[in-house]
Amino acid sequence: MKEMLTSAIEKLLSHNPLSKEEYVAFLENNSVELRTELARYAIKAKQEVYGNDIYIRGLIEFTNYCKNNCYYCGLRRDNHCVERYRLQDDEILVCCENGYELGFRTFVLQGGEDGQFADEKMVPLVARIRNRYPDCAITLSLGERSKESYQRLFDAGANRYLLRHETAVKSHYEKLHPSDMSWDHRMECLSWLKEIGYQVGCGFMVGSPYQTNDMLAEDLMLIQQFQPDMVGIGPFLRHGDTPFAEFSDGSLETTLLCISLLRLMQPNLLLPATTALATIAPDGREQGILAGANVVMPNLSPVKNRKQYSLYDNKKFTNEEAAEGLLKLRQRMQAIGCEIAIHRGDSRR
Ligand code: SAH
Ligand code: SF4
Repeated sequence: MKEMLTSAIEKLLSHNPLSKEEYVAFLENNSVELRTELARYAIKAKQEVYGNDIYIRGLIEFTNYCKNNCYYCGLRRDNHCVERYRLQDDEILVCCENGYELGFRTFVLQGGEDGQFADEKMVPLVARIRNRYPDCAITLSLGERSKESYQRLFDAGANRYLLRHETAVKSHYEKLHPSDMSWDHRMECLSWLKEIGYQVGCGFMVGSPYQTNDMLAEDLMLIQQFQPDMVGIGPFLRHGDTPFAEFSDGSLETTLLCISLLRLMQPNLLLPATTALATIAPDGREQGILAGANVVMPNLSPVKNRKQYSLYDNKKFTNEEAAEGLLKLRQRMQAIGCEIAIHRGDSRR
């Protein structure tokens, strides 16, 4: 086993693709020593491409209505305990304005799959933001839509799209979602997005119910093959008002291991230290960065709505305004030798 890991590390460092068995071997030997070694290489790989820069993306959670019923998510349609909200276009623009002042040059519009934000509403909204902020990147994370819709949003000025694949294994996907959602369609959406010309982000939850190391290795293989611009990963975190209320949370350590593996697999990846990581450990963001992540996505949503966007229990949010939050983030990043960059931070793929 030791030899296998040593040769797998050599392969990673010389940019050769690994086999699934090699990824499984890493996941099964997830010791502090292994993580420390991989993190050291991952940091070096990140520095060669991005230096010590951390890219910030301003997250605007503009609707928590969702027509889907993903078993893991607190925003699922059948969760009637959620107080639902939608931001007005003008409120969204105020979020952008605040963000721009603070130095954000990427806005991420994220929401549930909300029929009210059909193209008639979404396309002019994206065009308005594009028009007002020609030097900023617009990232969308609105779930599955038609190819035509993705094209219209792109033509209106969106540059990037985040759509986690959630799991690379179809039978596992079917355990996480009801039968009206399909893995094949999810994959189709990802290939459309790439074809249209978006910078694309996929990703998965670590430790989601029924996941095995073999499946996680499949996730890493899928990413190795798909070559996305970004990968969003974070631990699965239970939400008490979902069918998965009784499952346990995913592991911080496995998430960190996956971050390092992803950085080494594709050194130019944009890899966020996600809110789920910050939720599972008080210094989760820092730990993510020190494992190889290079992106943080602070919340620009109105303070009044933050706790309503509850994907999982105890989701980290603060009542402080974006400016105060950014100041603290900057200090925390400086404490680990990193600097927040004031530019779009496009993919170097
Ligand atoms: N509706 C859009 C975007 C919002 S959900 C979509 O589904 O793509 C964004 C991500 O949150 C999902 O892709 C999922 O991976 C993550 N998520 C949802 N519930 C979660 C949970 N209980 N624990 C951890 N991550 C979760
Ligand atoms: Fe809706 Fe996204 Fe939550 Fe699924 S993960 S229920 S699509 S918000």
